[in-house]
Amino acid sequence: MQMAKIMTVQGEIDAADLGFTLPHEHILVDFGGAQTACADRYDRDEVVRTMRPYVEQIVAAGIRSFVDCSPMYLARDVRVLRALSEQTGMQFITNTGQYKEPYLPQETFDIAAEALADQWIREWEEGIDGTDVRPGFIKTAVEPQPLAATQQKVVTAAAITSRATGLTIGTHTCAGIAALHVLRLLSAHRVDPAKWIFIHAHQETDFDLVRMVAREGSWIELDGIGAASDASILTMLLKLLDAGFDEQVLLSHDAGWYTVSEPNGGSPRPYTHLCESFLPLMRELGIDEPTIHRITVENPARAFAVG
Ligand SMILES: [Zn+2]
Repeated sequence: MQMAKIMTVQGEIDAADLGFTLPHEHILVDFGGAQTACADRYDRDEVVRTMRPYVEQIVAAGIRSFVDCSPMYLARDVRVLRALSEQTGMQFITNTGQYKEPYLPQETFDIAAEALADQWIREWEEGIDGTDVRPGFIKTAVEPQPLAATQQKVVTAAAITSRATGLTIGTHTCAGIAALHVLRLLSAHRVDPAKWIFIHAHQETDFDLVRMVAREGSWIELDGIGAASDASILTMLLKLLDAGFDEQVLLSHDAGWYTVSEPNGGSPRPYTHLCESFLPLMRELGIDEPTIHRITVENPARAFAVG
C-alpha cells in the first residue's frame, strides 16, 4: 500500500511526517477586495520579518505544520510562506480555490464552474503564481445561509478540482444549514464527505446540525481557539467526543496575521493558545493523551492527505 502524501510549500511529504499541526491559521491577509489585492501592496521581506517570531514560538512548542488558509485575492503569498518555511523549519500548506464576495474577481461571475476548476487544477499541476509551489487543499467560502448562485459555482468548481486532484476542500461555512447545503452540492458531484472540512463549525449554536454534518463523515473544525471563549469550544468538543466523533475533529486558532494596509501589519494574534492554555484544559477535563494525539496529529494527517 502506498503511504498517504501531503503537499507542503516545499513539496510532497509523507502524511506520517506532518506531526502536530495547526489546520487553520493565517500569515498574511489583505481585506482590500479582489479589485485591488496584489503583492505591490506590501513588502514581502517585512511580512516575513514580522511573522517569523510568531512561527518560531510555535516551532519551539512542538508544532511542525501550519495550514495557511488565506486564499487568492486575500493575499495568499506562497513566496512568503516558502521563505518562512526555509527560515523556521515549519511545514506550510497553502491552497487553491476562491473565497466569496467581495474577494472574487469579476471573471468568477462571468465564467462557468468548469473553467474556474481548470484554473485551480492548473495550479495543482504547474504551481502557483509562477513558482513550483503547489496547493495542499482547496479553500472556499459561503455565507451562513443557503448558497447564493456564485457560491454554488465556487463550491462546484471545488468539487471538480477535488475529483481531479485528490485535494481536500475546506469551506468557511460557520452555519450548519450552509454546511448541509454544501454537502448536498458536493455529493451531487460524487465528492466523499470525508474530503470536506466544515470551517468555523464552533460558530454553529445548534449542536444537532453539527452532529448531522459529522454523521455524514466530514471534518468538524473548531478553529476559534483563543478568540472564542475556551468554555464554548470545550463544550462543543466534549459533545463531539461523547458522540464518538474523535476521528473527525480539528482544532486551530484562525490566528495571525500581518494585515496589509495597517502600520507594520497591525497586531497579529499569536498561535500559542492551544498549547499554552487549551490542551491543559482538555487534560484537566480528563481527555486522554491518545485522544489529544489523534486530534492534533493523526486527524490533520488524514484530513489533508491527497488522494
Ligand atoms: Zn481563517
